[in-house]
Amino acid sequence: MIIAERKPLDAILGMMTPYHKVLVVGCGTCASVCLAGGAREVAMLGSLVRMTRQTNDEPIEVAEATVHRQCDKEFLLPLAAEVEAADAVFSMGCGCGVQLLAETFPQRRVFPLLDTKFMGVTLEPGWWAERCRGCGECVLDRTGGICPITRCSKGLLNGPCGGYRNGKCEVDPTVDCGWLLIFDRLKELNELESLRAILGPKDWSHGAFGQPRRVVRDDVRTSAEEGHV
Ligand code: SF4
Ligand code: SF4
Repeated sequence: MIIAERKPLDAILGMMTPYHKVLVVGCGTCASVCLAGGAREVAMLGSLVRMTRQTNDEPIEVAEATVHRQCDKEFLLPLAAEVEAADAVFSMGCGCGVQLLAETFPQRRVFPLLDTKFMGVTLEPGWWAERCRGCGECVLDRTGGICPITRCSKGLLNGPCGGYRNGKCEVDPTVDCGWLLIFDRLKELNELESLRAILGPKDWSHGAFGQPRRVVRDDVRTSAEEGHV
């Protein structure tokens, strides 16, 4: 899932300063699971903003809504009346949700209330860790199911840099060396030999640093080619 964190209250209040009637929109999927922008967080932030603005003699109306997913237009369209009634919209979804809200309702300013961090997993309640950087060409089949791009601080593809100490990464000694994890896992699987096969240079144009990426199924390709997606 996508992991995000709420922006500091001061930053949020700063963005809301010019407005007197706002809509805060939560997301019931990733942002909810990582406890950053679900219905509960929307309600807590709404109360906090109302109380703070009231205390400062600048009352504000905060309407609250949480949709199932902010990254699907079908869940946003039912918000039309609430968006229309607000001076501005504040999203507690990830960056994708913020952008789709803005595309769906171009007549309103849409502001982000979360900082979107990474794609990751839940290790413990309240503790999330990055596991994928969306490189576009997955190599997990070659690395025992442990991502060298994400788990190695330098994204090395063919073994460790040699800087690790006591199993920890030289870049951050609180983090396990990703390549030692890969080595141990391949040893467990009795597949250490596979490390002899060199992984070739990666084509990063398929990753986050190339052009904006799209995945289009064959059965919808025609409409995509016509510029509909
Ligand atoms: S190799 Fe690429 S796609 Fe696979 S987990 Fe790592 S970053 Fe994600
Ligand atoms: S110490 Fe390990 S995880 Fe850190 S950069 Fe070197 S190989 Fe990668």
